[in-house]
Amino acid sequence: MTRDPDCIFCKIIAGDIPSFKVYEDDKSFVFMDINPANEGHALAIPKNHAPDVFNIAEADIAAVANAARLVAGALAEELDLEGLNLVQANGPAAKQSVMHFHIHILPRTMDDSLHLNWPLNPGDKEAIGALAGHIRARLSQA
Ligand code: 5GP
Ligand code: ZN
Repeated sequence: MTRDPDCIFCKIIAGDIPSFKVYEDDKSFVFMDINPANEGHALAIPKNHAPDVFNIAEADIAAVANAARLVAGALAEELDLEGLNLVQANGPAAKQSVMHFHIHILPRTMDDSLHLNWPLNPGDKEAIGALAGHIRARLSQA
């Protein structure tokens, strides 16, 4: 397991900082967020330290996504949820505040005032298509 000694989430995994753990396997760890945006807000993280989506290993992100899926299902049953967002931030413009990859498991209610949603405004199809071509080209080089 790779660990960053200065990372708060690595300290949580190690038990050096207490947390309310809800799930753990060999590659992932899920615990309740200390500042819940809604009741049931939890965080799924890899046990191997990786700061963001640009640096996480394939097997680690696969395990964390599956851990988030399992906990989302349990929360949906326990709280009889009307909805749930999986949210994941990378970098300052995305408002990432802890530099250890994490997926927010965020229960939603019809009347909560969270501002995660954006209006549907049609884009420029030519520009969208051109960018899609560039991204396909990059991925085919991998
Ligand atoms: P971000 O802003 O990076 O997307 O999310 C970081 C999340 O980590 C925040 O929702 C914040 O409440 C949570 N968090 C930060 N420090 C701690 C901590 O020590 N314990 C727990 N349980 N959550 C934390
Ligand atoms: Zn870490």
